[in-house]
Amino acid sequence: MKDTYIYFFEGKLYINLTNKCSNDCTFCLRNNMKGIDGNNLWLSREGTKEEIVDLISEVKDKFADAVFCGYGESTYRLDDMLYIADRLKAMGKRTRLDTNGLGSLINGRDIVPELVGKIDCASVSLNEYNAQKYDEVSRSVYGEKAFDAMLEFSRECVKAGIDVLLTVVDVIPNADIIKCREIAERLGARFRVRSYIQ
Ligand code: SF4
Repeated sequence: MKDTYIYFFEGKLYINLTNKCSNDCTFCLRNNMKGIDGNNLWLSREGTKEEIVDLISEVKDKFADAVFCGYGESTYRLDDMLYIADRLKAMGKRTRLDTNGLGSLINGRDIVPELVGKIDCASVSLNEYNAQKYDEVSRSVYGEKAFDAMLEFSRECVKAGIDVLLTVVDVIPNADIIKCREIAERLGARFRVRSYIQ
């Protein structure tokens, strides 16, 4: 079967750069499903940035919004992601990054300045309201320090003028969701509760 590097979902173009991820979230789609909407998102080989831009160019009249989502964490391929985002902006598209917010830890530097002008919206998985609870849900290779790194990334994105959406999945208790909403408000980010898909 061919690898799925781009696909459409709810009218948006989704870009699947990598299956690598620093986390192993309890609610991750990857635990139960091969992909979304009939697209197998497990890659036998990551697409090159040129291959992906070529594929996008073929469908460029069919979408206004592009989402770096993957079946993994796109910031593992930061340079390639920014190259593609640049091309998307040149096409007049809006860009969103769906992320675990650990791109700065993964790349060993604050990556937010590099996103400015290329990524319009960052949808960040907040997951829980403190480091210990976050780690129980997210099971990151970075352990409990991941929580602060994710918040710092989100804070820097807000400061840089990127539209930030913090999300939780409705597998956590309602009291925790309320605390997560308060964190989003304090950061000046939008907030959304996502439904668990299995
Ligand atoms: S960060 Fe995203 S891709 Fe990675 S394990 Fe969690 S839900 Fe899955």
